Amino acid sequence: MPSIINEPKLDFKDVLLRPKRSTLKSRSEVELTREFKFKNSKRTYSGIPVVASNMDTVGTFEMADKLAEAGLFTTMHKHYSIDQWKDFGATRPVSIFDHVAISSGISENDWNKLTAVCEALPQLNAICLDVANGYSETFVDFIRKVREQFPRHTIFAGNVVTGEMVEELLLAGADCVKVGIGPGSVCTTRKKAGVGYPQLSAVLECADAAHGLNGHVMSDGGCTNPGDVAKAFGAGADFVMMGGLFAGHDQSGGELIERDGRKFKLFYGMSSDTAMKKHHGAVAEYRASEGKTITIPYRGDVTNTVLDLLGGIRSACTYTGSRTLKELPKRTTFIRVTQQTNDMYNPYEVATAPKSG
Ligand code: 5GP
Repeated sequence: MPSIINEPKLDFKDVLLRPKRSTLKSRSEVELTREFKFKNSKRTYSGIPVVASNMDTVGTFEMADKLAEAGLFTTMHKHYSIDQWKDFGATRPVSIFDHVAISSGISENDWNKLTAVCEALPQLNAICLDVANGYSETFVDFIRKVREQFPRHTIFAGNVVTGEMVEELLLAGADCVKVGIGPGSVCTTRKKAGVGYPQLSAVLECADAAHGLNGHVMSDGGCTNPGDVAKAFGAGADFVMMGGLFAGHDQSGGELIERDGRKFKLFYGMSSDTAMKKHHGAVAEYRASEGKTITIPYRGDVTNTVLDLLGGIRSACTYTGSRTLKELPKRTTFIRVTQQTNDMYNPYEVATAPKSG
């Protein structure tokens, strides 16, 4: 018989951070830089753990240039060629490689490209292994293979949403597990496949599992404003990845469109029809597209967005009395502000409840 989890699982919108007594005088006193020592690569990371997603409209070389300047991280999209990577390596300072990862899928072609780029660019030290469904055995085997070939590279891998799979990926060789199935702004998995997990609960549960093994987690998707990013950190995410919040800028990919004198940029999911036609020539017959294509208002240089984003996180730290981002989860109490839909409206109760007064 199918089983049902009755305990409520929550999204970012379902909670708020409760303010706490604070001795901080201003947001500028908050330290957002974090230092991590990774479980398997043994590398140390130092930076602001806010990450641009490896979507071709977001994770671009130009985005990495700007975000690295501010201490943020970029996972590059999978469609750069080996030559483009060589050019990137030849024209950027070595220091940028503390803030970027190459992304890869798990096909033979992906493996060949990954090994070629890593061989050509010894300064590259982080790899993001990214599949829509991180629950397959093939994925776990691929992580093992990459760990064996690249013992000193930091490996980000996902996506999954449950503690036991976080543990499995860490034990296979990942350093930081990406968490999120279905929350993305241009993702349609919850509708197309009926699969998903509310993101705040996924992060809470996965962070707990990862930290128990000295591993890390990256919350991926579902942040629609800086407050959501603060909630993800409050729930225990070590890194927070976002697509939509970094889309629409000069540094983002995606066509610029002018309509009635206003500018927009195209933003689409990596398994949308748009992306599949662009990179593979067509939508594969056996799979439904699980991403959509939207236009978002053009937002100019990403620098202003970064300031706004970091300002929001600093503010959350100030309200909760967290002098550093590291302290935020320890000082987090979430207040649940929504009810499950069936609590709010039960037609049977409405029909039969005794009238008051
Ligand atoms: P956002 O920050 O825009 O809410 O979410 C970004 C995340 O959505 C990405 O990092 C990735 O995990 C996920 N994503 C990107 N494209 C697609 C897609 O086409 N389908 C699905 N299911 N998820 C996607």
